Order: sequence, then structure tokens, then C-alpha cells
Amino acid sequence: MPRRNPRTERSRAQTPRPDSGLGDVYRRIESGPHGDEYVVRTVPGARAVKRYRCPGCDHEVMPRVAHVVAWPVGGGETDRRHWHRGCWNGRGTRGITRRWS
Ligand SMILES: [Zn+2]
Repeated sequence: MPRRNPRTERSRAQTPRPDSGLGDVYRRIESGPHGDEYVVRTVPGARAVKRYRCPGCDHEVMPRVAHVVAWPVGGGETDRRHWHRGCWNGRGTRGITRRWS
């Protein structure tokens, strides 16, 4: 089982290193309300060049709008979702109305 083939090495080199410090790619791990963990990446407006469908509000995330990319820890490319920042931040409280009167 050859684990270090040239293709793997090259694709790794293209990925921004998570420990590179003050780059514009900022990645962190967030825990969801049900103990699920997500990798969360902030995309600055200058880097947002496509439209995406936000799963939080079902509206489009427009180009040039800073937003959040999140996917489950251990997930792959197809698990990535682009969220408005407000929708991502509010997703844990939406539907959980303990403090609602
Ligand atoms: Zn949204």
C-alpha cells in the first residue's frame, strides 16, 4: 500500500497550511449544539467569487460577501456548505427556543 505517492505530496503542497499563522485563511473547530464538530473557515469578501446557497436561510451568498464555509470534521469537499455569517452564528439557537416566552 504506497502511502506517499507524488500526487498526494503535490496536493498537500497546494493546501494552505493551517498553522501558517496570520494568513487570510482562518480555520477553527466549532462544536454544534448536539456535540457534532465542524471545521469552520472564514472566507473574506475578496476571496468570495461565486454564488452559493446558504443552508441557513435558503438564500444566495453573493460574490464579494464575506461568509463562512463549514463542514463536519472528517468530511470531504462535498460536505462543505457556505453560510452567511449571521446564519451560521444563529444556527445553534434557531429552533431551540428555551428562552422564548
Ligand atoms: Zn443565510
